Amino acid sequence: LPDNFQRIGYYDYSGSGYDRGHMVPSADRFADAKLNEETFMMTNIVPQTGALNQFPWEKLESYSRSQAWRGYDVYTIAGVYGEKGVLKGKVTVPTNCWKIIVFLPRGFTVDKIDQRTRIIAVDMPNVDSIENVPWERYKTTVRSIEEKTGFDIFSLLPRELQDQIETRVDPNMLHSP
Ligand code: MN
Repeated sequence: LPDNFQRIGYYDYSGSGYDRGHMVPSADRFADAKLNEETFMMTNIVPQTGALNQFPWEKLESYSRSQAWRGYDVYTIAGVYGEKGVLKGKVTVPTNCWKIIVFLPRGFTVDKIDQRTRIIAVDMPNVDSIENVPWERYKTTVRSIEEKTGFDIFSLLPRELQDQIETRVDPNMLHSP
């Protein structure tokens, strides 16, 4: 990152009450020690409540990994928006954490994405007391995340296909691929 970017340290979260929430989960990078270490870089971390980080956010991570074990290639993008506070005058605490996950049969490349491709989008509030809320409750459309963040997700896909896959909510129940 550029030199003029704010440098965030491990201890900037200490005493804040917030977890150091991973975007790329450590457990998604167990195959290689170096790659695992990199998930602990503070550029991969945001302040999440324990109730979010250790419950619905983690449950979705586990579900996503279970699909990888079942033979899917899993493409994930995650991020945040909103500001509900600032730690030590430099770490923004987001109001929301979002994630978009694309499941493709192993070996399929992203140009195989079509209207039937399974895509999960979630938008989770960074709040307390959601320990018992199932992650599925936070499903949303990709389009909604685009509106909240200003990003154009799947921007390299044809506009018509984006309109199809970005405007529906994943209908599948837990455990069905
Ligand atoms: Mn888009």
